[in-house]
Amino acid sequence: MNFYNTRISFGNKRRFACGVLIDTYNYETSTCPMCYNERREPDLNNLFSNKNWNPNIYMNNDYYADFLASSIIGNGIVSEKAMIVLKENFGNTIDFGNIEMISYRDLDEAFLRKVRDYSGNKAAKQIANDPPQYYRLILNVGASLNLQLTNMELSLDCLKCGRKEYGAVAGSREDWWNNTPHIIESSWKGYDLFHVEGKGNTVFCTERFIEVYKHHALTGLEFEQVLTV
Ligand SMILES: [Zn+2]
Repeated sequence: MNFYNTRISFGNKRRFACGVLIDTYNYETSTCPMCYNERREPDLNNLFSNKNWNPNIYMNNDYYADFLASSIIGNGIVSEKAMIVLKENFGNTIDFGNIEMISYRDLDEAFLRKVRDYSGNKAAKQIANDPPQYYRLILNVGASLNLQLTNMELSLDCLKCGRKEYGAVAGSREDWWNNTPHIIESSWKGYDLFHVEGKGNTVFCTERFIEVYKHHALTGLEFEQVLTV
């Protein structure tokens, strides 16, 4: 079985839009008595996969692909067309969450001033007036890595709070995050679009997903084969 790492394409002539989250959210922090890590409740990742959350997102320009980066999570948002194609082909192995699409017209002057201060006048002017509806992609963890071959290790596995952290093998100078992942084939749960334990929000896919993606002329992704062991 061949697996691929998906990356957001920046587009050819123009940069594809990126969804920008404008919500602030309330959370409570607590410190784990065992690993001393600070925990946020809700955690932004948990919030992202919560179907009842309805985040406010604007598009930073109006050049749209079917898969777009968002300021929340890498490959996080998809067009209505992509959602329909994914539902038709991959059924209930992929879930979707709502987004409240915000227009340039909805943003007040104080907010726009912040955007101008941060990213310049041009960036503020490019914010889309009539963004199409996008949806949050909610995926399952569908496989694990051979950590040793990927040059990674589990650096924290807290029995108390359940927190797991992965990092480079101690003493290694390699840029571990960019190491080619080695997916354990027998750990694959059969999903065609999935996360991998230890690789955070990176989205992996199968050959079958790429066929569907190409057949329906979807846009916005690039694929890079990873290794299977
Ligand atoms: Zn802990």
